[in-house]
Amino acid sequence: MGTYVLTGSASGIGAATKARLESDGHRVIGVDIRDADVIADLRSPQGRAQAVAEVTALAGDSLDGFVPFAGLAPAAGRPAADVIELNYFGAVELLEGLRPLLAAGDGASVVLISSNSTTTSPGWPVEAAEACLAGDGRKAAEITSEFGDLASVHAYPVSKAAVAWYARTKSAEYIRDGIRLNAVAPGIIETPMTVVGREDPLVGEAMKGFVGAVPAGRGGKPEEVAALVAFLLGPESTYVVGSVLFVDGGIDAAFRGKDW
Ligand code: NAD
Repeated sequence: MGTYVLTGSASGIGAATKARLESDGHRVIGVDIRDADVIADLRSPQGRAQAVAEVTALAGDSLDGFVPFAGLAPAAGRPAADVIELNYFGAVELLEGLRPLLAAGDGASVVLISSNSTTTSPGWPVEAAEACLAGDGRKAAEITSEFGDLASVHAYPVSKAAVAWYARTKSAEYIRDGIRLNAVAPGIIETPMTVVGREDPLVGEAMKGFVGAVPAGRGGKPEEVAALVAFLLGPESTYVVGSVLFVDGGIDAAFRGKDW
C-alpha cells in the first residue's frame, strides 16, 4: 500500500480523497491550515517550506503520490495574491520540494487540481498565468489586481490554468524520474467552497446559476472527483501522462464542443 500526501485534506474534495485512499488501505499525510498531520499556511513561501520539511520528516524514504487540493475560490474582498499564492505556488512549490521523495518511489503519481473555470470563464489575463509559470507570483497578482473588485474572479482561472499548463509542459520532464504528472479540472462540486461561494456578494448569484448550465443537471459530489484522483494515483492509469481530465458533468464539452 502507498503513502500519499494531500494538501487541503481537512475539507471538501481533499477530505473525500483522504477517506477514499484510507479505505483502500493507503497511508495519507494531510497538510492543511487546520485539522491535519501538518498544519501550514500554504499562501507563503515560509509556510510552504515548513510543510515540505514536516512532510519529509513524516514520510520515510519515499512517496507514492501527491495531490495539492488546498485552494481558495473567488470572493468579495479576497486579494488576488492569496488566490495565486495558494492555488498555484501552494501546489507547485510543494511538488518541487517533495520531488526527490516522489522520484524515490516506485512509479509515483501526482495529480494537480485545475478547474473548468479555465475554459468556461471569459477574459482572464493569459499573461498572469504565464507569470505564474515563470515563478513570478507578484507580477501575476499585479496583473489580476488591475481588475479591481473582480481581481479574485480573474485570479482564480489564472491560477488554475497555470496549474494545468504546469502539468502539460512539465510532465515529460517528470516522467524521466518515473513520476507521472496529470491534472483534473472539476466543475461545480458540492463542497464547503461552493456553499460559501453561493452566499458571497461578488460571485454568489453567478454561482447559483452555474448548476442550471451543467448537462448532467446537478453539481458533482466530492467522491466523484476522489474516484478519478484515486484512478490517476493508482496502477490502472500508468500510461496516463500529462493529461488534464475534466470532471464537470459535461459543461466544458458543452461550452467548447470541437474547439479544443
Ligand atoms: P474546500 O474549501 O472544501 O477545501 C479547501 C481546503 O483548503 C480546506 O481544507 C482549507 O482549510 C484548505 N486551505 C485553505 N486555505 C489554506 C491555506 N492558506 N493553507 C493551507 N490550506 C488551506 O474546497 P474544495 O471545494 O474541496 O476544493 C478543493 C480544490 O478543488 C481547490 O483547489 C479548488 O479550487 C478545486 N476546485 C473546486 C471546485 C468546486 O466546485 N468545489 C471546482 C473546481 C476546482
